[in-house]
Amino acid sequence: MAEVNTVRGTIDVEDMGPTLMHEHVFVLTQEHFENFGVGQWWDEGARVEQAVEKLRDLFTIGIHTIVDPTVIGLGRDIHRIRSIAAEVPVNIIVATGVYTYGDLPFNYTLRGPGTALGGDEPMIEDFTRDITEGIAGTDTKAAFLKCAVEHADMTSGVERVLRAVAQTHRNTGVPMTVHTSSPEQTGRQVVEILRQEGADLTKLVVGHAGDSNDLDYLMELADAGAILGMDRFGLDVYNPTADRVKTIVALAERGYSDRMVLSHDASCFIDWFGPTSDTILEAVMPHWNYEHISNDVLPALREAGITDHQISEMLVANPARYFSANVNSETPS
Ligand SMILES: [Zn+2]
Repeated sequence: MAEVNTVRGTIDVEDMGPTLMHEHVFVLTQEHFENFGVGQWWDEGARVEQAVEKLRDLFTIGIHTIVDPTVIGLGRDIHRIRSIAAEVPVNIIVATGVYTYGDLPFNYTLRGPGTALGGDEPMIEDFTRDITEGIAGTDTKAAFLKCAVEHADMTSGVERVLRAVAQTHRNTGVPMTVHTSSPEQTGRQVVEILRQEGADLTKLVVGHAGDSNDLDYLMELADAGAILGMDRFGLDVYNPTADRVKTIVALAERGYSDRMVLSHDASCFIDWFGPTSDTILEAVMPHWNYEHISNDVLPALREAGITDHQISEMLVANPARYFSANVNSETPS
């Protein structure tokens, strides 16, 4: 039986239950946050309490697991996440990796293949430790890898992260989620590079694929074996809910419900819009929260003809398969 590491420890993948495959708890610009947020506008106790409340509420409406791809570059703080996970019934699965649209963090730029100092890729060592030993001295292990390819003209830094993710995936067997840009269709390049690296494409979620309504693009990715992240429900500026629903229905009609997963890419707090981020976001994107799928999207999908079985594939079976043992098992036909 396949098992997956959560913040609280190992569980059977069969026990993940309904799962949102891309939700952040907090997204913070870490160094800025520590210097200008902490002691200023950030109230640690209140924010943690609010997160606990939101995750308890999420469990009561039927979501049992969230998959949190908050890695280096997005303010990962495993100690804060552990204190929240201890208080909520929802399982939280965490990631390792680097999130950048361009440059690498400076501590990687001079070390590794093709750099001044050369040597082995240091990202692989860091990612592997997170997966096999635990994150930041804790016993919480990362269960998947995450990186970003936002621009079609990929920088050497972004490509290095992607290849380090692929190689760590090959060494450890853990799956991958890659943030992509649907307008620039960077999912194609991700598939191409991961193929070169010998990655198992059935262990790839093409993050933010759901921003696209281009069925040819989406089917091309799914036919390569990848799972489509229909994962920004509520982010209407990129693609309104009605269009996201239509695209899922069209793909399901073509037999792709075994290669889609659902989520919001929401968070309890993201500092990208400043200290009053949550007030601003509530005003301009009122549906960008953990509950939009359960409350609004699933009824809309059912109304449009999606069956309970197909919903269960997208929320339960596909996430469980993604976190199940690597290669040769349950490769999509
Ligand atoms: Zn995200």
